[in-house]
Amino acid sequence: MSNFEIKYTKLFINNEWVDAVSKKTFPTINPQDESIITHVAEGDKADVDIAVAAARKAFHRYSEWRTMDASKRGKLLLKLADLIDSQVKYLADLETLDCGKPVKIAEEEIIYSADVFRYYAGKADKILGNTIPADGEVLSMTLKEPVGVCAQIIPWNYPIPMLSWKIAPALAAGCTVVLKPAEQTPLTALAVGALIKEAGFPPGVVNIIPGYGPSAGAALTHHPDVDKVAFTGSTEVGKLILGSASVANLKRVTLELGGKSPLVVFNDADVEKAAQIAHNAAFANGGQCCCAGTRTYVQAGIYEKFVKEATDIALKRTVGNPFEDVQQGPQIDKEMYTKVLDYIEAGRKAGALCVAGGDKIGNKGYYIKPTVFADVTDDMKIAKEEIFGPVQSILKFDTFEEVIDRANDTNYGLGAGVITNDITTALSFAKHVRAGSVWINTYDHVTSQTPFGGYKDSGIGRELGEDGINQYLEVKTVTISVPKKPQM
Ligand code: ADP
Repeated sequence: MSNFEIKYTKLFINNEWVDAVSKKTFPTINPQDESIITHVAEGDKADVDIAVAAARKAFHRYSEWRTMDASKRGKLLLKLADLIDSQVKYLADLETLDCGKPVKIAEEEIIYSADVFRYYAGKADKILGNTIPADGEVLSMTLKEPVGVCAQIIPWNYPIPMLSWKIAPALAAGCTVVLKPAEQTPLTALAVGALIKEAGFPPGVVNIIPGYGPSAGAALTHHPDVDKVAFTGSTEVGKLILGSASVANLKRVTLELGGKSPLVVFNDADVEKAAQIAHNAAFANGGQCCCAGTRTYVQAGIYEKFVKEATDIALKRTVGNPFEDVQQGPQIDKEMYTKVLDYIEAGRKAGALCVAGGDKIGNKGYYIKPTVFADVTDDMKIAKEEIFGPVQSILKFDTFEEVIDRANDTNYGLGAGVITNDITTALSFAKHVRAGSVWINTYDHVTSQTPFGGYKDSGIGRELGEDGINQYLEVKTVTISVPKKPQM
């Protein structure tokens, strides 16, 4: 890790760094060794009130932001993307320190996030309405207008990418933002705050309030002057947010929540390639991924061979110091570490066959061995609940109809995958599986251009792509009286 200082630990409001009104701070922990990295200002309701007022002021009809040409908003977003690129090394080190992901992967994620800003920079001056052949002696058109002040609450698993998915479309649309990073990973969001200021965004357009969910997060979702809430996190908290967002006023809500995604491998697949795709699907980011393909369904004809291959790949997965050349670092915190180990225990007790891993690594830091269970059945807890750790469940199936029913037999519907060379099987699967993203002969391929989000309890609305910016726009219909035959 390069030698660097942590410059930003305060709240970012109105382009200034301020202490919390309460003067409280909270520690952020290094998951490698459980040490305190630093203390960060702890925002709560009083700070949220100030930040929302700043965002509201920045959204005033004659503010610098609201009167700015849309193309200029795009230029500011491009500038921000370039600044993020110029800081990749610093931001990646900070990200790895705070959340434990391998630093090479953190670098890739930051470069990807800069591109999300670029994608939406290009959209800023291409937000188009329609002209409509309405009935009557009128001309009608639609204007797409920014929704307003947006509260954005993000998780710890992909701190900078999640920030980019939230902030970039909101700013391209012309909204203003109060963002709350996860309490486990506040540092990189604050560092990006400094770049937002440097890029030249007017004060109040983006405000960043680190703090805890039930205090700062809930204050945002209850706030009467917030127009929209965008949230990524657990389904449990998503449901709370949906409720609180309709108490003081009716906020627009987008939710990107949990998953228990199926990846289905048919008999005709190349077993080695399929096992590698399935491994990556389950273990990416140490399994701390909402669309992780954790239910691997394998057709009976290749089942034994597949289990052997999956086991070999998992046993070779390198886990350790994320600043070294490894595939997996520690899990995020003690709570998740304990939870994942409990699930592993539950898998064993339920009679699943643990063919790889199944244990923690060492006694310091939150390291867990990549774990593979074979002979898993649908009724087991490990097949039903989101584990959010490095645990793959392999289940056997016989027929297409059977596996579609089993894949869909969940309240979740975020991602799904299918591996087969038969185009009819692949497309039939894609048609009948109830999930927001379906990957065929690949998995977890998420791009700026393609919408991402969930069916059922996996969420409401979509992020990224055209659909992503639409979630930050209101549609206004303007109708003008135009006599069909003017009296001149
Ligand atoms: P995870 O299980 O990934 O930690 P959470 O849903 O607990 O997901 O947290 C995701 C984000 O939601 C974090 O920023 C967290 O602080 C925030 N959060 C947690 N509880 C609430 C709440 N009651 N209201 C608003 N935000 C919350």
